[in-house]
Amino acid sequence: MDILTNIESIRADFPILTQTVHNRPLVYLDNAATTQKPWSVIKKIEEGYTQQNANVHRGVHFLSQMATEAHEAARATVQQFLGAAHAHEIIFTRGTTESINLVAHSFGETFLQTGDEIIVSEMEHHSNIVPWQLLQQRKGIVIKVIPFNEQGELDLEALASLFTDRTKLLAVTHVSNVLGTVNPVKDIIAMAHVRQVPVLIDGAQSVPHIAVNVQDLDADFYVFSGHKIYGPTGIGVLYGKEKWLNAMVPYQGGGEMIAQVSFEKTTFNELPYKFEAGTPDFIGSTALAEAIRYVQNIGMDQIAAYETYLLNYATDKLQQLGDVRFFGTSLHKSAVISMQVGNIHHYDMGTLLDKLGIALRTGHHCAQPIMKHYGIEGTLRASFALYNTTAEIDALVAGIARVKQLF
Ligand code: PMP
Repeated sequence: MDILTNIESIRADFPILTQTVHNRPLVYLDNAATTQKPWSVIKKIEEGYTQQNANVHRGVHFLSQMATEAHEAARATVQQFLGAAHAHEIIFTRGTTESINLVAHSFGETFLQTGDEIIVSEMEHHSNIVPWQLLQQRKGIVIKVIPFNEQGELDLEALASLFTDRTKLLAVTHVSNVLGTVNPVKDIIAMAHVRQVPVLIDGAQSVPHIAVNVQDLDADFYVFSGHKIYGPTGIGVLYGKEKWLNAMVPYQGGGEMIAQVSFEKTTFNELPYKFEAGTPDFIGSTALAEAIRYVQNIGMDQIAAYETYLLNYATDKLQQLGDVRFFGTSLHKSAVISMQVGNIHHYDMGTLLDKLGIALRTGHHCAQPIMKHYGIEGTLRASFALYNTTAEIDALVAGIARVKQLF
């Protein structure tokens, strides 16, 4: 679907967008933090609770079977969306953060010994740093860091020199939530695989914006959050290759993840249930599948093209304003703009823009190593989604110009 010609009907799918904030029309440009939800997703949640709410997998009764079928159909939708070979390679989690913690725990406990090394990058979100540091405290592993250059691009030569025969995993983001850089993850994965090193890709900022195929990338693990792709909060995905997931120890213990329990010996369930202890968010999973159908209906390539158009439009307009410093100027960029306007503190800018109804994010964006790289405390970040418009960008640019005048 061509987004530009259908933008009004697309916007009408998102009820929150008609809100006013401080008596101004809402201009929502904080999509990298979370996205708004279309009616179809909201209605799916309502339908879940009004028509098929029953616990999954254990029931012989009608509602339980319906809920189970919907939950497993949602898994198949995610499988197809990511291009995974098997539905049982899709594990439902609470989100990107939990997916990475799961891998850090289960892969770490299974495969890592004191002195083993993992590689992450300097542009990771804290959720792809801290779980590895917790593992470091438990196991005494070594964490190595791929640096990035002034444009915000990973230094692949430096990466090549980080591998040793103790390297056990590489964990890197597909798209930076601060710099917008789209990392060449297919090449990075190939570099790691030559050295028999498996790779985890943080897809929190890629899956909502560009087409992803985990088999084509040959990713060993790929993770994302539902709420950043127009789905509900509290649901996310860990894709993992069967061979790794089968070999890994469970993450949490409880119901669903077991085959047989006795005080003498407990055996674990098969995939994917081995990693889904307790009652899963079966309403969230079906609503996430609805969100995926929503973006698939429009088309991931159309979404990527439209958001690139918004990115270029916004970058040009902001450049014309003058006195704007951009953080992240890679040629391969997703629709995220991190900036500093003159000497105006990002909090002041964000607060004043909010008074004009414009929602942006300010601060370190959970990526303090990026701030350290540039020697700054934080940035002002605008991040775009498929429902944003050039008129909203004009409002942002006019808002920034107005704040500049005030200072
Ligand atoms: N990784 C990246 C690149 C992100 O942008 C985010 C969210 N800002 C996360 C991980 C964490 O996602 P969540 O909070 O949904 O678990």
